[in-house]
Amino acid sequence: MSNTPHYYYNEVLRLLKEHQTWFSESIPLIASENIPSPAVREAIVSDFGNRYAEGWPGERVYAGCIYIDQVENICIELAKQLFRSEFADVRPVSGVCANLSVYSAFTEPNDIMLTLAIPNGGHISMGRKELFGTAGLVHGLRVTYYPFNKDEMNIDVDETKKNIEEMIKKGEKPKLAMLGGSLILFPQPVRELSTILHQYDILVCYDAAHVAGLIAGGQFQDPLREGADIMTLSTHKTLFGPQGGAIVSFLKFAEKIKKAVFPGNTSNHHLHHVAGKAIAFAEMLEFGSAYASQVVKNAKALAQALYDKGLDVLGAEKGFTKSHQIALDVTKHGDGGTLEKQLEACNIIVNRQLIPGDIKAGRNYMHPGGLRLGVSEVTRLGMREGEMQEIAEFIKMVVVDKADLHLVREKVREFRRNYQRVHYAFESEREAYAYIKIR
Ligand SMILES: *Cc1c(COP(=O)(O)O)cnc(C)c1O
Repeated sequence: MSNTPHYYYNEVLRLLKEHQTWFSESIPLIASENIPSPAVREAIVSDFGNRYAEGWPGERVYAGCIYIDQVENICIELAKQLFRSEFADVRPVSGVCANLSVYSAFTEPNDIMLTLAIPNGGHISMGRKELFGTAGLVHGLRVTYYPFNKDEMNIDVDETKKNIEEMIKKGEKPKLAMLGGSLILFPQPVRELSTILHQYDILVCYDAAHVAGLIAGGQFQDPLREGADIMTLSTHKTLFGPQGGAIVSFLKFAEKIKKAVFPGNTSNHHLHHVAGKAIAFAEMLEFGSAYASQVVKNAKALAQALYDKGLDVLGAEKGFTKSHQIALDVTKHGDGGTLEKQLEACNIIVNRQLIPGDIKAGRNYMHPGGLRLGVSEVTRLGMREGEMQEIAEFIKMVVVDKADLHLVREKVREFRRNYQRVHYAFESEREAYAYIKIR
């Protein structure tokens, strides 16, 4: 660090701008990302982000919340409408914080929790202590895994039932069952599992971090109607809000959840993000159904096109996907880590992914057997099935043909030029990745 402070000041601002130019010329396929509307971005730079509230609207710890309370109340009402829930808490600052709040509200350290193993779609927030997972490490939960059917890419209901019965015989009854996941191609058997789990008085929480936008748009399953007691979510994956979390549930669980969020797992929450969430929820209510149905169509189209070009797409027996995600087994062509970097060099942004069987085969997180693609952001940019064909061709050129990376990059930049607006949002003059200078 040998330069002047002013140099670094300018350097950070320059890098921010460069990043946005790069993304405006790229194909963003990270399944956990999306592009918020200019209106959401406006909320994020507002003064709400500099204030303290703490607590529930009307019962704040600090003065100065007159407008903040009104916005948060709107946000809560919109969330309840969007997810048809009796209760919503929009304060969790992330999906992990939402999950941790559920663990705090309804379990004690050393209780047993059921969830998916990470290569089968589980998330670190539901992970074991040995893996530094939030559930094990932070809340001391003992994590056990659902039996998983790789061909179906889904939880095995019959085996799960047997496992639970055996656990109960041994006096090891789970307290909480988490559903949902990070790699989630198909709706899970929430209804069947909830029936079984509730027989044994096990609480069911569906982690909709990824699929919340599809649920809101009526294009995936509807966990709260299918037996889940609680649903946690991230607000920025298929939902297109600012980064954050939320919890929706029934009134009978409201008080415990509220206390677990504050003071349990936050002091102040991020008030500018609450405003951004409210705007995104309003956009979702207006445009969510059209958006979510195009997302699912695009995912299916991209999966089919990749399959037709000779790539191994998981879930083939079930039609590849019913969500925004596509999972590829790339072991024939290299490893997920190396291919992720090569695609990035061509402005195609994806993430490497542990897939079922990787751990047994000795593969690890740095060099797994899979890639995960998500189409939420490209859908928000106005792309449809036709564009998915072109994206599949670019991916094939890199992964299968080992084409010249500079050449592919130029083709990607050219292709990308025409998609610079956020769709499924109220009117705005701004381009999607415009760098907004307010100095
Ligand atoms: C992304 C994800 C989370 C965490 O969300 P953050 O908002 O990044 O904290 C939780 N659960 C699942 C299943 C996820 O995929």
